[in-house]
This record gives sequence, C-alpha cells and structure tokens, in this order.
Amino acid sequence: MSAQVNETLIRDVVAEVLSRLGSPSAPAKPAPALPPAVNPACGCPVEGKPARAAGRGRFGVFPDANEACEAAHQAYLQLSERGVAGRNKVVQIVKDLCYANAKEWGRIELEETKIGRLDHKIEKLLGQRGIPGVEFLNPYGLSGDHGITLEEYAPFGVIGAVTPSTHSIPTMACNIISMAAAGNAAVFNAHPGAYKCAVMAARIFNEAIHRELGIENLACIVDPPTLDSFNAIAKHERVKLLCVTGGPGVVKAAMASGKRAICAGPGNPPVLVDGTSCLTNAAKCVVFGAAYDNNLLCIGEKEVFVLAGVFDKFMAALEKQGAFRLNAAQVERLTKAAFVFPPGQGAGCPHPVVNRDLVGRDPEVLAKHAGATIPSGTQLLFAETAADHLFIEEEQMMPFLPIVRVKSVEEGIVEAKKAEHGYKHSAIIHSHDVAHMTAMGKALETTLFIKNGSCLAGLGNGGEGYANFSIATTTGEGICNPRTFTRVRRCVMVDKLRIF
Ligand code: NAD
Repeated sequence: MSAQVNETLIRDVVAEVLSRLGSPSAPAKPAPALPPAVNPACGCPVEGKPARAAGRGRFGVFPDANEACEAAHQAYLQLSERGVAGRNKVVQIVKDLCYANAKEWGRIELEETKIGRLDHKIEKLLGQRGIPGVEFLNPYGLSGDHGITLEEYAPFGVIGAVTPSTHSIPTMACNIISMAAAGNAAVFNAHPGAYKCAVMAARIFNEAIHRELGIENLACIVDPPTLDSFNAIAKHERVKLLCVTGGPGVVKAAMASGKRAICAGPGNPPVLVDGTSCLTNAAKCVVFGAAYDNNLLCIGEKEVFVLAGVFDKFMAALEKQGAFRLNAAQVERLTKAAFVFPPGQGAGCPHPVVNRDLVGRDPEVLAKHAGATIPSGTQLLFAETAADHLFIEEEQMMPFLPIVRVKSVEEGIVEAKKAEHGYKHSAIIHSHDVAHMTAMGKALETTLFIKNGSCLAGLGNGGEGYANFSIATTTGEGICNPRTFTRVRRCVMVDKLRIF
C-alpha cells in the first residue's frame, strides 16, 4: 500500500470520527461516494476512475479558482446527502461563529480595509442571526380534481459569488447562510482590498462545518482574488449561477459572463423631506443612516432634498442631532479632495471619480480636508449644496451629506430621481402626506422605499423585515434570501393522493 493511500485512508477515518464526535445530532451517514473523475479537456466523466478528493485539508481556501469550483461541487453533493438537517446545521454554524467572533472579526476587517466604523462592523456581524434560513423555503402546493402538485425550491449546485470591500465578511456570511439554506455550495471572489479577513472567516466556517458534518469545502474562497480568478469562476462548468455584490463594473462583468447572474448593484439613495412630518425624527433618522459605518452602506442616505419652507428648521435639527455644518468654502475644499479626475476618461472632459482614500473615512479626516475643526465624536458632516453638486451626482460613501433646497415636492422628486440614476436601489421620504409618498414611490421605482425611518429600517433595523447585505437591485430579485438561490421544480401526481 502506498504512502498516498495510507494518508488518504487516515484522513477519511479521522474526518468520519470527528464528524460523529462533534455532533451527536448530526446524521451519522457515511460521506457520499466520490463521483467519477472528470476529463479536464472535455469535462466528461472518466468511467471507473473516482475523482481525487478535491480540496482535502484546504477548508475552502484555494489559490486556484478551478480547484475551488470542483471542491465546491463535491461539497454540494455531500450537503445533498445531509438533507435539510445538514443545511440547518450550516446556517446555525455560520450565525454562531459571526456572533461569537463579532468583535474580533470586526476589528480585523477594519484593520485590513481601513474604511468604516468598528461599532457598526461588529453590529453587522451580530445581525447575521436575523438572516432567514431553511424555514424560508415553503413549497407551493396545489390540490384539485386532477390530484396534487407541489412546487419545490431546489438548489442550483455551485454558486460563484463576488463580495464588496464595504462589508466583506458580513456579505460573505449572509450569502453562505442564504445559499446553503437552499442546498447550494459557493465559491467566493472577494474584493482585493478586503479578502484576507474573508479568507480567515471562510476557513473557520469550513473547519466548523467539517467538524459537524464532515464537509470540508462548502464555502470556498480564492486566495488571492484577481480578475482572472473571477473569470475562471464565471466560466467554470460547475458554477450554475453568479451572485455579485458591488458597483457598476462587477455588475457589467457578471451580466456579460453568459451565466445567469443575480446582481446586487450600486445605489445613490436620495431623501425627500416635505415638512409635513416631525423634523426632529427626520433629522435623527438621516444622521443615523448616513453616519452608519461612515456611509458605506449601499442603502445609506447620500443626499437630501428639503422643501424651502422648512429648510432652515431642518438644518438646525441636523445640528441638534450632533451633525456638523460646513460652510461653502469648507465644502469646496472637501470636494477638491474627495474627487479626482483621472486622465484618459471622457473625451477631453475627464469624468470625476470618488477619491478612494476618503471613502468610508471618519468625519475628522474629512473635516481636516475641509479645513474645519469639529467636536470629537461628531458622526456626520453636512452642508447646503446645489442639486448638480458632485457630492449629489456621485455615490460618494463618505460621512458628508449634501442638502438641497427645493421649491416644491414635484421639484424634489425630479431631483431625487436624477440623483438616483435609475439604479432602482433605495429612496427615503419623511412625510405624512400619502400623495407625496405615492408620487415619489411611483417616480423612482426603487427596490427599497422607506417612509419616516432611516435607510436601515429597510433591512429590519427599526422597520419590519429581514436583512441581507446583497440587495439584488439591477436584476430585480430584491433583498436576497434562500429562495433567491433556488430553481423552482414542479412535482405532479395525477388523479391520486388528494385525500378528500
Ligand atoms: P467595487 O465595485 O469596487 O467591487 C465590488 C466587487 O466587485 C469586488 O470584489 C471587486 O473586486 C469586484 N469587481 C469590480 N470590478 C470587477 C470586474 N470588472 N470584474 C470582476 N470583478 C470586479 O465596489 P466596492 O467599493 O467594493 O463596494 C461598493 C459598491 O458596491 C457600491 O457601488 C455599493 O452601492 C455597492 N454595493 C451594493 C450592494 C447591494 O446589495 N446592492 C451591497 C453592497 C455594496
């Protein structure tokens, strides 16, 4: 017997023993037989030759995207064997690990990315407990003279996923929860500026899943991620679906891949304040939402349109809520620092691009660029600007909020629609006038439309509903949940089994 066989055998035995020891409730089924090996040239199975146990000992972390996809496929087959109980276990493991490690992982992610706020990074991990799991998949049943029919939500298999720099571990975690609840495995390509923390968390998730269920590579990740690894994942025959979360570039790339893609794309959420509701509440909500994680959220308030009659009162209300007002000269200095004009973009008229060095940075950093001294603990800067200001046009992701004076609700809706750029992402109104709410909702057609709350109410923080960090705006699936990652299959029994 060769040393290779001995090592494989020993690994298998240890894996089986550990999986039984780790979970008295876990089904003690043997691991499924390996499928036949695949000929890399044509992708056909090679009869009589079992596949090499892909990714043994890697716990989901792969330098090679193709290997990751193959290992994820085997994990998908193993998960199918573990049934609904197995999926439930995976969901619980990911939620428990995020909860237990929230402080440490929040700190590690902030240290790597240097964007956002520690308190909110921690909150985003604690909040994983509220992400829907297996219970979300209720089949749809029909019963009639011709028998019964059941429509079931079945898995796709392996899903290729891309995560943003703004919430790396939280997006990966809620993607795993939703995808595994639906019976899928995943391969992640994280943002190059936020991948180390994701690799660390993925390894820990997979180690725990392996201990409990004997599955090593359910949530694979490429280390390090590149555009080539994205292309390899998108092209791989095992990958049946893509789910990308990020800006316009990755959405375009996913849509061009030829695979079905769920695209959680960019936003630039506008707020309209018409003065018919409580201005103190409006200011409180706006400060909470726009300051959250230094305005990194795609749903975060990015610009506010206020009716002229209540404009001054609203600005005073923002100050009372602890936001710091910049004057025109300070806004000009900040704008010069916050946007760059890379040469070669635009035909002789370079297009402004947000300066990544200021994205998600603390208000003190922005204030320094603006030449302002602010009280310590200030969460948000704000100022009056024109409706066509760069801070309105660009998705800036900084804790500075431009506020625009408008003459009428109609003008406010027109400007809000312009600022939203047709992303159909999120919009917010503070109003007690149902006609105003209806008009704005109809005009902007956003995926999330929040009335009299902060943007976070749209994800269950202060409003009803569940959360997810992937909001499929571009492709229209809405806030992702386990059903998003399923195919509907119909099972029909003709003339029988209707029991009355
Ligand atoms: P980004 O677009 O720079 O990167 C997002 C991800 O896409 C990263 O992993 C990046 O490496 C990858 N990527 C970028 N261009 C690519 C390409 N051409 N091919 C393959 N992969 C590519 O965005 P970011 O700064 O990390 O995140 C902020 C953006 O994401 C904002 O636009 C925000 O609105 C959006 N976002 C949307 C949601 C949502 O649920 N809709 C959630 C979070 C963030």
